[in-house]
Amino acid sequence: MTSGVAIEHVSFGYGGTAVLDDVSLDVEQGEFFAFLGPSGSGKTTLLRLIAGFGAPAQGRILIGGRDVTSLPPWSRNVGMVFQSYALWPHMTVAKNVAFGLERRKLSRKEIARKVDAALELVELTAFANRRPAQLSGGQQQRVALARTIVIEPEVLLLDEPLSNLDAKLRVEMRTELKALQRKLGITAIYVTHDQEEANAVADRIAVLDGGRIQQIGTPGELYDRPANRFVATFLGTANLIEGHVQGGRFAADGFALDGIAAPDGPACIAIRPQDIELGAFSGGVAAVLVEREFLGSTMRYRLRVGSRAIVVDAPHHRGAKSYAVGGTVGLLIDPRQVSVLREN
Ligand code: ADP
Repeated sequence: MTSGVAIEHVSFGYGGTAVLDDVSLDVEQGEFFAFLGPSGSGKTTLLRLIAGFGAPAQGRILIGGRDVTSLPPWSRNVGMVFQSYALWPHMTVAKNVAFGLERRKLSRKEIARKVDAALELVELTAFANRRPAQLSGGQQQRVALARTIVIEPEVLLLDEPLSNLDAKLRVEMRTELKALQRKLGITAIYVTHDQEEANAVADRIAVLDGGRIQQIGTPGELYDRPANRFVATFLGTANLIEGHVQGGRFAADGFALDGIAAPDGPACIAIRPQDIELGAFSGGVAAVLVEREFLGSTMRYRLRVGSRAIVVDAPHHRGAKSYAVGGTVGLLIDPRQVSVLREN
C-alpha cells in the first residue's frame, strides 16, 4: 500500500532559530516529489519531520489521511534512505536487507522470500553473500534501497541518496531510481540541492529557501513560470529586469517591450537567455556586445543594455551567424516567453 503525504502549516526551529516557517504541501499517492533548495534551506529537517525524527512546533503531518504528527518513527510505516547508506559493515548484503524484517517477527521462510525479491528488484541477487566493503558505491546504494523497500513502507523518503557517487554514476542511478519508483508505484519524497537531479526524477518539486516554500510545480512549470527571483535564478539562468508596466508595455532603462500581460505598476520580468534573439539593430532594444563564450551547443553572449548586463544563448550549428564583440546589436524578444514575477 502506498499513501499520499500532507504537510499542513508546519513550523519548526532549533532552539530559538526558525528553520521551517509555515510549510504546507500535498504529495499525491504514487507521486515522485522533490524538496529542492540550497544547503540550509530546511529540506532535510522537513523530511525528518515526516519520518518522525522530531515534532513540528506548529502544524500537522498526515500520511494516507492519518494524522501522524505525534507518532514515533516506528509507528509511521515510512522508509528512509540516507546519504551515508548506513549499512552494517559486518553483515552480508542479504543480512543487511533482512535486518528490518527480523525485528518484525516474520518466519524465516517469509524473510528469505522477501529478501530475495528485494535483491532481485535492485539487481543484486548475485551479491547476496558479499559484505558492503566488497561492493561499489552504486551497489551499496542499491543495498540501502533494497533494505528500505523490503519493509514495504507506505512512503519512501530519500535524503540526497546519490551524493556520495561520482557524477556519471549519479546520472545512471537517478534513472534507475525513477524506474524502480514507477515499478513499485510508491510515493517518494526526494531531497536534493541539485536542480538537474530534481528535474530528472520528480513529477513535482517544492522549492525551498530560508525555511519557506518558494513555489511548487512540475519541473516545466517552475522553469517556464517562476513565481519569484529566487526560483527564476535557482532553476537555470534568467535575465531579471526591473521596470514599469503601463498599458501592456514594459519599460526600463534602455528597454521597451510590448504585449506584457501585467497590471500597471512596478514589475520585475524574467527572460531566459535562449529566449532572446540577436539581430541587426533596426529600432527596438539596442545592446552592446561585451563578450562571447563558445559553449559547444550554444554561443553565450554577454551584452549591455543601458547599465544592465544581459545574457543571450544562441544555438550553435555549423555556419551559424555570430556577432563581434564591441558591436551594437538588436534584441528580439517574444513577449510570450517573458515571465512577470509575482513576488520578489
Ligand atoms: P538542508 O537539508 O536544506 O541543507 P537542514 O534542514 O539540514 O537544511 O538545515 C536547516 C537549518 O537548520 C540550517 O540552518 C541548519 O544549520 C540548522 N540545523 C540543522 N540541524 C540542526 C541541529 N541538529 N541543531 C541546530 N541547528 C540545526
